[in-house]
Amino acid sequence: MGMVGGGQLARMTAQAAVPLGVTLTVLDPDPSPPAARAGAQVLVGHADRLDDLLALARLSDVVTFDHERIPLAHLRALEEHGHRVAPGPDVAELAFDKAASRRRLQAEGFPVPRFTQGSTVADVVAFGDQAGWPVVVKAASGGYDGRGVAIVDDIRSVEDAVRRLGDRLVVEERVPFDVELAVLVARNVGGEVACYPPVATIQRDAMCAEVVSPAPAPASVRRAACELAESLATEFGLVGVMAVELFLVGADLVINELATRPHNTAHHTIEAAETSQFEQHLRAVLGWPLGATRARPGAAAMVNVVGAADGSDPQRHLARALALPGAHVHLYGKAPRPGRKLGHVTALGATVGQARAVAHRAAALLGAPDPWAHTGGAA
Ligand code: ADP
Repeated sequence: MGMVGGGQLARMTAQAAVPLGVTLTVLDPDPSPPAARAGAQVLVGHADRLDDLLALARLSDVVTFDHERIPLAHLRALEEHGHRVAPGPDVAELAFDKAASRRRLQAEGFPVPRFTQGSTVADVVAFGDQAGWPVVVKAASGGYDGRGVAIVDDIRSVEDAVRRLGDRLVVEERVPFDVELAVLVARNVGGEVACYPPVATIQRDAMCAEVVSPAPAPASVRRAACELAESLATEFGLVGVMAVELFLVGADLVINELATRPHNTAHHTIEAAETSQFEQHLRAVLGWPLGATRARPGAAAMVNVVGAADGSDPQRHLARALALPGAHVHLYGKAPRPGRKLGHVTALGATVGQARAVAHRAAALLGAPDPWAHTGGAA
């Protein structure tokens, strides 16, 4: 399997590839990216150069990706050259281009926030005056971990957002959600579909800080979230895994974002589900039967280990976290920088509260800043 990008998602995919005997080659500009140290072969090259992508495709039965910064035209060109790309470019567009995604989802009758496309301060102001303030401004492509998102409610913040986010913008209503949910769905080449139990996600500064499973939502909502994810996968012909990020507003689900790759909101599946999302992705794109998505008994919590302000390396504090029973530590081998995702911790427990307590404690022992330090506690 060829994967564009050798970051932490490729690293955890490489770990899942070993027992299945799959050789993983990653395309990355860094000759020693996180995936290399988990056994992936590295092809040094760039995701925005077609020649480099073709070189990866020639080494692989199927090309997949661990990030969204690949020109869609290049993915289409790989297919035109006779290579398999999974998920395919039309599905990838749902994640790579938020404007196209909102348009296509709306056209197919899926629930999305009220939105418009725009490029100027005047476009944002016109939408806000009509739809109500504040509004959410997003870069149509290239954003991740909240870096492409701004919530604005005055002219200064609108001007700052337009300057920062460029001129291909999605402008949308701020959805007054009760909780954010995420569902990971998989579909294989044969059309078999499987969905993991929905989780609740907790963001800090628009970046995922924590995930709890099962989501504290009624069974009817959890069922509806899975049905929505499965119909998206079938309707658009997904091959691979896809994360569906949702807002729950009362009893209604609204789609926020799709990611057509393994995702931060399903890292807990490594320990907490019968098949990890990384193995599931391999099974799906390589044409094998999907694995069971059942959760192990009890609850799970995953907390991201984010770089501390002083730039200290969580690896240095590993012994402290490993002394904590039940903490499953994953460090990604990335250079520490303040605010950067450097790893995560998953804990299982009889209840969500027990699992969260262990995961939080372990993340703190690794030196990660407390995600709730400035908010006085959340969820
Ligand atoms: P990214 O692509 O950087 O992950 P998202 O579109 O997922 O960006 O937005 C990040 C976070 O910002 C969301 O998880 C949510 O907390 C908040 N957010 C995004 N869009 C909206 C919206 N329309 N209404 C309310 N909150 C939003």
